[in-house]
Order: sequence, then C-alpha cells, then structure tokens
Amino acid sequence: MMYDVIVVGGGPTGLSSSISLLSNDLDVLILEEHKEVGIPRHCTGVVSESLIKLVGYPAEASIINRINKAKFKSPSGYTFELSFEKYTNFILDRILFERNLLREFEKKGGNILYNKKVKKIEILNDKVAVKFDGNTLYTKFVFIASGTHVKLIDGYKPPNSFPSIQYEIEDSVENKNEVELIFTKEAKGFFLWKAPTSDNSYLIGLGRKDIYSKYYLDSFLKKNNIKGKIKAVYSGRIIFDKPLSRPYFKNAVLVGDAAGHSKATTGGGLFYGILGSKIAAEIVSKYLAKELPVNYVELEYMERKHVISYLNNTYTLAKYFYALSDKQYDILIKALSKIQSKISINPDYQDYHHTYIIDFILNPKLAVQFIKSFIS
Ligand SMILES: Cc1cc2nc3c(=O)[nH]c(=O)nc-3n(C[C@H](O)[C@H](O)[C@H](O)COP(=O)(O)OP(=O)(O)OC[C@H]3O[C@@H](n4cnc5c(N)ncnc54)[C@H](O)[C@@H]3O)c2cc1C
Repeated sequence: MMYDVIVVGGGPTGLSSSISLLSNDLDVLILEEHKEVGIPRHCTGVVSESLIKLVGYPAEASIINRINKAKFKSPSGYTFELSFEKYTNFILDRILFERNLLREFEKKGGNILYNKKVKKIEILNDKVAVKFDGNTLYTKFVFIASGTHVKLIDGYKPPNSFPSIQYEIEDSVENKNEVELIFTKEAKGFFLWKAPTSDNSYLIGLGRKDIYSKYYLDSFLKKNNIKGKIKAVYSGRIIFDKPLSRPYFKNAVLVGDAAGHSKATTGGGLFYGILGSKIAAEIVSKYLAKELPVNYVELEYMERKHVISYLNNTYTLAKYFYALSDKQYDILIKALSKIQSKISINPDYQDYHHTYIIDFILNPKLAVQFIKSFIS
C-alpha cells in the first residue's frame, strides 16, 4: 500500500499537520521513534492565546496554569515588570497536549506506528522512500517533523541549536501567575526562566551555547539558596537561528523545529511550528487531492508571509539582545523599570516580539522618557 503522506515524528507539529491532512481526506501514517507520544518531555509549555485559538480543544484541555505577569531581572538584580489585565500566556501540560492531539488524530482515522526510527528518506521520481529498521515504505509525499538536529534527507542542514536543561521543582510559589526571565551569567548568551505549573511547583531552566547547562543551573540554585525537591529533569535543544528559507524538497516538506520554526528570543516553537505545519498541510492537500504536483512557489510564499518573515525579524532582535554584556542588561532593565508604568504592550504581540521595538520607536514620547531614564 502507498500512503498519500507519511509524517516522520509524532510531536506537536507532526500531529498537527497530520490532523489537517486527514481533514482533507488524505491517508496519513505517522512514524514515531518512541513508544508513545509526548515522551521524553523537554518543553516548558508556555504558549500565547493565539496558539490556543489555532489548535483549539487539544490545547485548551491541556492548560495547567495562566500567566498575566512577566518579571525581567538583570544580572545585578534590577527588575522590570509587565502586567496585564487578562491572561496573556498559558502553561500547557506538554505530555497531555500531545496525547490530546493524538486523540484527535486517531478520531479522524489516522494511523501511527511506534518504535519506528526513520533512518533515511530518499526522493525518487514519482514517490518517496522512507527507510526504517530494514523496512522501506513508499509514499506520495513526506512531512519531516522530527525536531532539531535529525538529518534524514540529503541536502538538509538543520538550524543551529544549543542544549538546555530544566528542572521541575516542588516548592511553594509566591505568585502562580508570574513568569520570570532572568539575565544572569549562568545563562550567558540566553536567559534563565522560572515558570510556575501550580501553587507548589515550577519549572526552572536555562540554555547556554556551550555544553555546561546543568553545571550552571545547579550553581544558580545553590547561589540563590533554592532548595525545593527536584521532581523531574528535562533537557532538549533550543533553536537559535533563522528559519530555513526553503523548507522543502521535491515531495517533502520540513515542519516545526526541523524547519527552524522557533522564536530565537525565547526558544518557543509551538505557535510558529504548528502554524507552519498547518499551512503546509493545507497546500499539500490541495494538490495531492487533484493529483497535481505541489506548487512550491505557493508553499514558500505562504510560509514566508505567515511564519518565516516574522521569525527572521525575531532572530535579528535576539542576536543583538543576547550579545549584550551584563552591564548593558543592568542599564537597560534599570531604565525600563523607571518607565514601566507608562509602557503599554499589546498582549496580542506575544508571538511578534520584534514589534515591541517598532511600537517603542513609533511612540516618541515614550522613547524620550526611555532615553531620559538612562541618564537619570
Ligand atoms: C527546554 C525547552 C523549553 C521549551 N519551551 C517552550 C515553550 O515554553 N513554549 C514553546 O512554544 N516552545 C518551547 N520549546 C520549543 C518546543 O518544544 C518545540 O518548538 C516543539 O516541541 C517542536 O515541535 P516538533 O513537533 O517540531 O518537534 P519535537 O517536539 O521535537 O517532536 C519531534 C518528534 O519526532 C520524533 N522523531 C525524531 N526523530 C525521529 C526519527 N528519526 N524517526 C521517527 N521519529 C522521530 C521524536 O521522538 C518526537 O516525537 C522549548 C524547547 C526546549 C528544548
């Protein structure tokens, strides 16, 4: 049997694209290397309202906490806070989220095979060969949703990424609705985050461009006398790169982390990864249904318009922001703290970080106050 589409990887973007492909009456098979979806977990699960709207029930039903405040801390302890009247971010139970997506995929008649680690994808004239464990399956089209760092197809260069580590700590939480972003030498080149998952547990993690994340997270806990019980340890790679400008081959498309669809400012990849995977699924479905070759110009245009252009801007912002020295973070956060009551940020901008800067520039009064706060 030849499937219409084989999807490599049963993560959030593989499952989301598969649901869209099934809704367009295509036969879909997912090959997943692990024995179930969602495991091993690595992600914090902080998402915007746009993600909840985009995914619908599987995301809504996975929310374990709501956030309306973000606190930014500089290396010397200056703080700048952003508070919102409504909840702007949501923390998902990441394992439940993937299970909920899987349930929707199976309800639509999708098929998933576990413990199938794809080793190679070969593009042939009129079909694609997907190779795993000495087997080969043939398909008209393949979605590569295998995350960061997995090279399955000739000519593919994965986006740059770096290791991160995260602990789930059992301890009382002061404000359940507040996330912290800490710019500290332990997370040099990125940041350290604290995200509460309940009244008595939170996730704390950091990313670094070297291999010493665990060492530095442990030293941060020690330095700050953080003592709660470590319930779980998660690790994974954070993408810090531009998205691929052409995330496709003949009869194959890359989605999610595999395509670099992640915000370099925070490493958050769920919104753009799922958005990009749904766009690709709709375009591919349209052409496969008519038995026509996929129009890659259309695919590239739509991905560029809705995903790639924003991620390119976000990468540029992140590249400069994370190159700041400790002293520069201190100056910046101290200056922002002085005008924080005057800053009003559109809560719908959660997925468009570069627009904060544009808003700032377009608000000359605020810009002047900001410059004054540097000097005073
Ligand atoms: C520490 C950390 C914290 C994060 N926090 C957030 C956050 O708060 N918010 C946010 O939006 N994003 C966050 N992210 C990013 C987010 O986790 C990813 O962007 C998202 O998981 C990407 O989904 P994906 O489906 O593309 O890839 P993945 O989630 O990596 O899924 C890939 C799937 O493919 C399978 N697979 C891999 N290779 C093969 C193979 N050869 N054969 C078969 N199956 C294979 C894997 O087992 C997995 O199931 C975080 C990432 C990290 C590392």
